[in-house]
Amino acid sequence: MRTELAYSEEFNEEINAERAYELYWAEVIFDKRAFRCAHEGCPARYTCANMDKPELLLKQQPHFREQQGHEVHAADCGALAAQKELRGGGTSGPRAEAGTPAPDRLLLKRPAGHFTPKQTLPGGAVGTSGTRSAGGEGGVRSRSTAFYSVRSLVSRWLKARRAGTDEEQTLQVGAQEALSYKEMFECIFYKHRQLSGCTRVYWGTATITEEAKAYRIKFSSAVQSIADTPLKEQRRPTVTIWKDDLKTFEMRAMLEKRLLNYAQSGKDCVAFVYGEPEIKAAKAGDVTFVNFAVRSMDLVSIESTSIYDLLRRPGEG
Ligand SMILES: [Zn+2]
Repeated sequence: MRTELAYSEEFNEEINAERAYELYWAEVIFDKRAFRCAHEGCPARYTCANMDKPELLLKQQPHFREQQGHEVHAADCGALAAQKELRGGGTSGPRAEAGTPAPDRLLLKRPAGHFTPKQTLPGGAVGTSGTRSAGGEGGVRSRSTAFYSVRSLVSRWLKARRAGTDEEQTLQVGAQEALSYKEMFECIFYKHRQLSGCTRVYWGTATITEEAKAYRIKFSSAVQSIADTPLKEQRRPTVTIWKDDLKTFEMRAMLEKRLLNYAQSGKDCVAFVYGEPEIKAAKAGDVTFVNFAVRSMDLVSIESTSIYDLLRRPGEG
């Protein structure tokens, strides 16, 4: 049986598989089998599948799988009971309760110590209090809606599209008003050459080149205008990843592998960047460029073009 949350023996906290993926690539945790059932004292163990894959086909997201050949859940395991309740009995779909669900949140800054394992006290108790107080649902679902990276947002968006809920499911970034996933993701492609200019997740097919001090991501489609400002000439927007900025990024190993892979192969990728496009003038002459300033490495994601298979809505050929 699968679970949303498991207790990481290396991080000393109950986490979801997405978080395990981040911690692995930040070199904070190392063993994909070092997870146990979140219910205290329950002997069941989990493996975090796909945790170590630098590039994920989006079909294979990281997830917890129960380890075979290990003890089963304790008779009084609350985590198991909560999972069964979520899966079975009466709940038709992810939100059977009345009212509008709270928006998901993209947090632009990770809390201090986000990659620091919690200290265990003698006797195995965890030194920080409150990590288990996740509200009435036993924490099975309630903590899965705050994100720290565009990369994890992308898989959430894909799921919403496939479920046909991307117009209702909303997302809030910082103090910005909540928008639906559909409004938040703005595609740069040949049928959409007029960008809104708003702060959004811009995405589209792109190529990557490596330079001495940077990786240059270039969207494949040219843009004609931004908000109401037409460009003198159509331009392919770019995103620059400075190698110096990469150095301080916790998950640099993953991002660098992805950037290098596409820079060396010359293959198309699909790039996502949260921010707004800027029109920049060249140092000399009358030329302008369109550029996305990257505020944090967490706000860029590089995916393979296999993502397009998942983007097709069910029933769309
Ligand atoms: Zn258990």
